[in-house]
Amino acid sequence: MAAIRTTGTIVVTGASRGIGATIALELAQRGFTVGCLTRKGTGLEVAVPAELAARFINTRCDVTDEVSVKRAFSEIASKCGVIYGIVNNAGIHLDAPSDKLTLDVYHQVMSTNATAVFTACREVYPHLVKAGGGVIVNIGSFFDKIGVKRNVAYCASKAAVGAITRCLAVEWASKGIRVLDVAPGYIETDLNRDAFKGPLREFLAKRIPGGKHGTPQDVARLVAAIFCEDIPFLNGETIYIDGGQGIAH
Ligand code: NAP
Repeated sequence: MAAIRTTGTIVVTGASRGIGATIALELAQRGFTVGCLTRKGTGLEVAVPAELAARFINTRCDVTDEVSVKRAFSEIASKCGVIYGIVNNAGIHLDAPSDKLTLDVYHQVMSTNATAVFTACREVYPHLVKAGGGVIVNIGSFFDKIGVKRNVAYCASKAAVGAITRCLAVEWASKGIRVLDVAPGYIETDLNRDAFKGPLREFLAKRIPGGKHGTPQDVARLVAAIFCEDIPFLNGETIYIDGGQGIAH
């Protein structure tokens, strides 16, 4: 049986709350050291079991600021030696009717959800090469393949995540670096908390074949499995975790 990987340092962006915090906790529970990149620099804003506290290295980072990203990786590497992986999770959701969408909002979404993914991949690259290879998991969305009213910027940003993933996977495979896009469907978090107060919950009960939206834990387990199973032939793919919503008629 192939060995399960449970050691090394994995960086998670946007680890303060939501899916990012849950991924960080899941990775720590499985044995990894986790570099938590958050805008405040104070780590997870959710309860951390005392026995796991030593597995987190907390660093301040705004993913839209290239200098901040570069400095964050240096800081983490100086504390843990080498970095084995990264989860590019930080993201925002802003919507508006397309004919009223300002360029400012459009750029804000693209900059946080897409450009920052490229920046973090580029800046972590030398660290992964130094480690002899590694794994990059970008958090996309199943909105990358569907048309959603009021969501042109968000959908375009997540389609870009898929493209960035494929290009880097092809370009960096020879260095032992694999790049994957984990693309969730609806997961209840702060990102969509207000929408869930409206008719969304009922709509999803009908639209998702299993009748229910997902949890941050679902995404965290998939991401952790990618690192733990460490399957060499899995590269460049967008892996949807949406309860089948994206393929349902
Ligand atoms: P969330 O609860 O709103 O959390 C977003 C996280 O991103 C927070 O930690 C936030 O940090 C961080 N962040 C935002 N802008 C940042 C920046 N400039 N620099 C550093 N960190 C930044 O959202 P979520 O639902 O967990 O979403 C996480 C990822 O999953 C996003 O990429 C999102 O697009 C994707 N996703 C979510 C869903 C869903 O249904 N929830 C579905 C598909 C994909 P602060 O605490 O500092 O604000």
